[in-house]
Amino acid sequence: MSIIVQKFGGTSVGSEEKIINVANRVIEEKQRGNDVVVVVSAMGKTTDGLVKLASNITSHPSKREMDMLLSTGEQVTISLLAMALQQKGYDAVSYTGWQAGIVTEAVHSNARITEINTVKLKKSLNEGKIIVVAGFQGMTASGEITTLGRGGSDTTAVALAASLHAERCDIYTDVDGVYTSDPRYIENARKLTSVSYDEMLELANLGAGVLHPRAVEFAKNYQLPLEVRSSIEKVEGTLIEEEATMEQNLIVRGVAFENEITRMTVFGLKNAITGLSSIFTTLAKHHINVDIIIQSQTEKNCTNLSFSIHEHDLGQAISVLEDNKQTLGFTHIEHESGLAKVSIVGSGMISNPGVAAEMFEVLAEHDIIVKMVSTSEIKVSAVVDEQNMNKAAKVLHTAFDLDRVKVEQYSS
Ligand code: ADP
Ligand code: ASP
Ligand code: MG
Repeated sequence: MSIIVQKFGGTSVGSEEKIINVANRVIEEKQRGNDVVVVVSAMGKTTDGLVKLASNITSHPSKREMDMLLSTGEQVTISLLAMALQQKGYDAVSYTGWQAGIVTEAVHSNARITEINTVKLKKSLNEGKIIVVAGFQGMTASGEITTLGRGGSDTTAVALAASLHAERCDIYTDVDGVYTSDPRYIENARKLTSVSYDEMLELANLGAGVLHPRAVEFAKNYQLPLEVRSSIEKVEGTLIEEEATMEQNLIVRGVAFENEITRMTVFGLKNAITGLSSIFTTLAKHHINVDIIIQSQTEKNCTNLSFSIHEHDLGQAISVLEDNKQTLGFTHIEHESGLAKVSIVGSGMISNPGVAAEMFEVLAEHDIIVKMVSTSEIKVSAVVDEQNMNKAAKVLHTAFDLDRVKVEQYSS
């Protein structure tokens, strides 16, 4: 008997009716003769609601208590889905993350799964039960509840699938697959039949919220076939696999974008060699993620350093650097908020030089100023003003032929 892991996201379990619909999708899989493990998110916008509740109490909630609070959302859904399955005559049991044996590192709000103890899950599967597991949560070795970062239920599902040696992991959501760009904003986005792990990892890391980046990382590491599918329509989704078919010889497979980016510049760094490492070590110690880095020599032994961070880390980044100004040895800091990053991704870039040049040409033609750039083998990212983000994504989508064939267009 094969094990199939299914994951249903927040909008797919947003009401009692939707939970009953999910129960039907689960039963269909069970009736095909498979063992089924289902991972669910909190209902609809529950997690956002919980964040808001906390913000009404304090602007600095402790990360431990936030995890305690946010992990409650998923617990509501698992019990309701298990009840819906039982109501339809199926033996089902719900487990929280820790009951399901999910162990994480001791980091609140963005923990990584380190281990899954599958004894209990295997026992329940052997008893013929459908298992419903709360996504997005785990427990540290010392018994503290943790969460896996927003969107982390995808990672719960893929990690469970890997440790149970599942045949497949299906991610059911409110779109029917991975599109060439976010179909909510790019009307000509079209569904991809398949996309490679590496491309999907870049897209997810660069803002394509359809999959949690760590879920893709797990799937790649364990060579687990992953499919993104619609929880409503019964149509084929997008397969994420090692080698994706090169649809229409596309060089660029997708355009991703994210806003709320800030560029910080540290001026007059005295000792470029040690200063550089000290600055980034100091930021890393405070869990501040730095993305694009640009270094420039102004005069002898004096360096300016620009880097991008997420806007929500700005306050902390400034205070951490100012607190250590003497030791770090710089003159002053400036920052520019209201920026966005627009990226093009595709394995085809490896064998096609000139893609970055074409990207900058297209942006220039549309009067979009590029403020920072970063590249890898299969992506080029440009930081632009936030108000230019959608326009940049649209013109790049068109320029790289992504809206040429309008198949299975998304309608919300
Ligand atoms: P869930 O609650 O099921 O986890 P998410 O909201 O996390 O759903 O992910 C689905 C959303 O991801 C879609 O509604 C879509 O707007 C967004 N999205 C962003 N980029 C893409 C993309 N390239 N392809 C498909 N959807 C995308
Ligand atoms: N409920 C969590 C969130 O909204 C986790 C998830 O949905 O994947 O981020
Ligand atoms: Mg999600």
